[in-house]
Amino acid sequence: DFAKRTPLVAGNWKMNLTRAAAGALIGEMKPLLKDASCEVALCVPFTDLEAAGAAMAGSRIRLGAQNCHWAASGAFTGEISADMLRELGVAYVIIGHSERRQYFGESDQTVNARAKAALSAGLRVILCVGETLEQREAGEMEAVIRRQMAGALEGITGEQLREMVIAYEPVWAIGTGKTATAAQAGEVCGLIRSFLAEHYGAEAADGMRIQYGGSMNAKNAAELLAQKDIDGGLIGGASLKAPDFAAIVAAAK
Ligand code: PGA
Repeated sequence: DFAKRTPLVAGNWKMNLTRAAAGALIGEMKPLLKDASCEVALCVPFTDLEAAGAAMAGSRIRLGAQNCHWAASGAFTGEISADMLRELGVAYVIIGHSERRQYFGESDQTVNARAKAALSAGLRVILCVGETLEQREAGEMEAVIRRQMAGALEGITGEQLREMVIAYEPVWAIGTGKTATAAQAGEVCGLIRSFLAEHYGAEAADGMRIQYGGSMNAKNAAELLAQKDIDGGLIGGASLKAPDFAAIVAAAK
């Protein structure tokens, strides 16, 4: 039931902050987050992982990355494997973010393969899905979400699913300042939970954490997080400022 799901508020720093700046921001966040009653993670650039991990020591913040490759190792110039992340203390990895799909050719197939590699290496996956404005206006939102969910979860077992979090991020709300209304966000998170119930059973679906992401900020967080099917947030811009991120964390109870 709803009360059993501990919300996860995860920052997605995207391609921001060098390692010195990362350490400084985490230092600023630590005292503000010490009474958090939800789970907190920061998904930082690869080059910041080691410094961020060190800066988080002694806090409840979990270390996260923003992508990983589908192969365990090999000739994949410029890529990073799940084991490489694991060794740096990474707990969570974002897979299938819309910016990866949009700018780096990620498909449902590569998202699925990357998710499986991450899970095999013992990482938890934050799987992102979400429709574009064009798709929403064409009445295709539900079909797009179902297609992305089915593609990303192909061959993933119920046991593996428990190591995943789903993030609903409407593309039109990311970095635009245009947040989905609480009702819109809650509706789609509900559809995602129904999809999970159909494919993995009601109990599994009930235990899954589903985040909303897209211009979530200190002002709108409480209303979004009050929706029964929203169990946390994936926070871009507002995770780059300690007081803003802390306010979102405080709103997630
Ligand atoms: P935003 O990004 O909060 O800056 O809209 C969210 C995301 O892309 O994860």
